[in-house]
Amino acid sequence: MSATTDRSAIPPFGQSFIPPDQAASTSADPAVGQSAGPLIELEQVTKIYDNGCRALLGVNLRIKRGEFLFVTGPSGSGKSTLLKLLYGEEQATQGDVIVNGVTLTKLKGNQLAKLRRQIGIVFQDYKLIPRRTVSENVAFVLWAQGFTRKEIHRRLLPTLRMVGLQDKTHCFPEELSGGEQQRVSIARAVVGTPPILLADEPTGNLDPDNSHQVIKILQRLNAIGITVIITTHDEQLVRQSHCPVVQIRDGRLIRVRG
Ligand code: ADP
Repeated sequence: MSATTDRSAIPPFGQSFIPPDQAASTSADPAVGQSAGPLIELEQVTKIYDNGCRALLGVNLRIKRGEFLFVTGPSGSGKSTLLKLLYGEEQATQGDVIVNGVTLTKLKGNQLAKLRRQIGIVFQDYKLIPRRTVSENVAFVLWAQGFTRKEIHRRLLPTLRMVGLQDKTHCFPEELSGGEQQRVSIARAVVGTPPILLADEPTGNLDPDNSHQVIKILQRLNAIGITVIITTHDEQLVRQSHCPVVQIRDGRLIRVRG
């Protein structure tokens, strides 16, 4: 396993990488939404877990289409909880979470599954399938969403090329560095071309070089229209960018920049 990664391995985006599916925002499906307002909206959102832990308190947040937003704050402040509310893994105790015009609390199982297809997620610990190759890990998402073989084939290589892993398609996760594994997980998150990408501490296990590379890929995805929300407690990473920043402290959200 190599600890460092050659930055030149990531080529600029070719025209072959498929940008976010604009069809999603014009769908007649109520679970997909047709909002002209903010892409994501939290109104007076409080999350209290069953054990009484007050993770978020009266959070208000509006995220515009195409924004690149950092969510910072110390460990345990509520950053992951915020993302979990956005993709419906947790439900707000009070208040409304609205994604693309759809209020999440009102969704039934099937509708929630449809909404989740609009959201790619990247985790700190990659969450790759160990006994599957890079290609299989990425293709699996499309297969699970019912894409045809032909469409999977069309999307796979451009996406792996986009994260600089076109030469590692047959490798297993254990044969890759941490940075490479995280790039597989980014490829998996965006191969279905969702308009929203959530990244929960994506650089938490990476050295500065690999962290920089991951942020660069996320910025490129943002440049082609994907709205990116990234949580981090790495102050340096945030300082290096000029993107909007919010901070969560003890469950309360403050806008820091932008
Ligand atoms: P962060 O991502 O900023 O580290 P989290 O959102 O993971 O913070 O956690 C916020 C608070 O909620 C913490 O006090 C944590 O212990 C608590 N918490 C997170 N998940 C759960 C859960 N499933 N049940 C109970 N408490 C939880």
